[in-house]
Amino acid sequence: KSRRHWLMRVAPLEGSTRLIRFVDRSEARAAEQMRVDFVANASHELRTPLATLIGYTETLREQSDEVDPATRDRFLSVVHDEALRMQRVVEDLISLSRIEAEKFTTPTDAVALEPLIDRALESERRTAQKRGSELVRDVAERLPPVAGDSGQILQLLDNLLSNALRYGEPGTPVTVSARTDGSMVRLSVSDCGDGIAPEHIARVTERFYRVDTSRSRSLGGTGLGLSIVKHIVERHRGRLSIDSIVGKGTTIHVLLPIAVS
Ligand code: ADP
Repeated sequence: KSRRHWLMRVAPLEGSTRLIRFVDRSEARAAEQMRVDFVANASHELRTPLATLIGYTETLREQSDEVDPATRDRFLSVVHDEALRMQRVVEDLISLSRIEAEKFTTPTDAVALEPLIDRALESERRTAQKRGSELVRDVAERLPPVAGDSGQILQLLDNLLSNALRYGEPGTPVTVSARTDGSMVRLSVSDCGDGIAPEHIARVTERFYRVDTSRSRSLGGTGLGLSIVKHIVERHRGRLSIDSIVGKGTTIHVLLPIAVS
């Protein structure tokens, strides 16, 4: 266990009042380490597809006479797929930094959830069809609006739904439900799939943390989806919880505060 270093600053204020501030240096060090790891992970995530792009385009350019049309098409589709992968990583990194930049402002717009749930379901419909998964919508009547940022709530729903489809067993349903829970609205997205082992549950919301990196990559994951969800929930003063059984499936719950009218 790391030793904690405490720094105490005593600054004189007006009159006899004194401000005593405790700064936990081990926390500051952990935050710095996280930043360093994040930059290293992000660079690594982009370096791999970039190397593929360079290798394949060099071959196409330098040996263009020897490459037959079928091989050329195959190379071009690899190049395209890798470029799309880089685009997804960069888009997610931009989202993450935007959400983080806004973390001290709590969104207060009254947001109706049904239209957002419908839009999220619509945008995943094709993927669901390809995987033979039914999308089930289970929304309570007269759901109150939540206090939030509609763009970010849509992004949260998109990320949870695409994970449920990605890690759900093909042919099994994915359910989105929404109902009131005290002063909050509970949104839940469930799948019947891989599940997440208990030792991974606490870590899957970390940036670039994946249970199985090659599986996530081959299914188009960036490793950032759940950390984006976590940041959105925190900004909304909401709560996130994960229920999962390995080999059975996962339900991710998000509680968002009901808007004050
Ligand atoms: P990714 O882009 O890899 O899906 P996420 O941040 O969205 O990244 O999720 C992190 C990891 O958590 C995933 O790589 C996967 O291992 C696990 N995970 C997320 N959602 C689910 C789910 N619904 N079922 C099983 N595992 C999941």
